[in-house]
Amino acid sequence: MIERCPRCYAELSEDATWVCPTCGYTLRTPMVAKVGILFMLLGLFLLGAYVMGPDAIGLMSGAIPTDLAELMVANFALMVASAFAFGMFLTAVGALVVRRARTQAIVA
Ligand SMILES: [Zn+2]
Repeated sequence: MIERCPRCYAELSEDATWVCPTCGYTLRTPMVAKVGILFMLLGLFLLGAYVMGPDAIGLMSGAIPTDLAELMVANFALMVASAFAFGMFLTAVGALVVRRARTQAIVA
């Protein structure tokens, strides 16, 4: 079965993994970018938890050790910021992977 580009219907060869060699369409999102989006969603979730108060997500329910819970509460803003930053970093890496594949496809 021959795969075709969803945008220009060009036939795709085996090595056209990320982008269509004819029109540069992004065929699939790199895993690293998906993980990045996941981290940004986690950051969003943490931000919501931060706004509602750490008690709302059951940090003090005893599910995790109290010391760790207190540490998380104390550094909540930092956790939110780093989850966002990490997510954005991974998404940027994913975008770079696609961009590099696109450049190579155009050169080749
Ligand atoms: Zn195409």
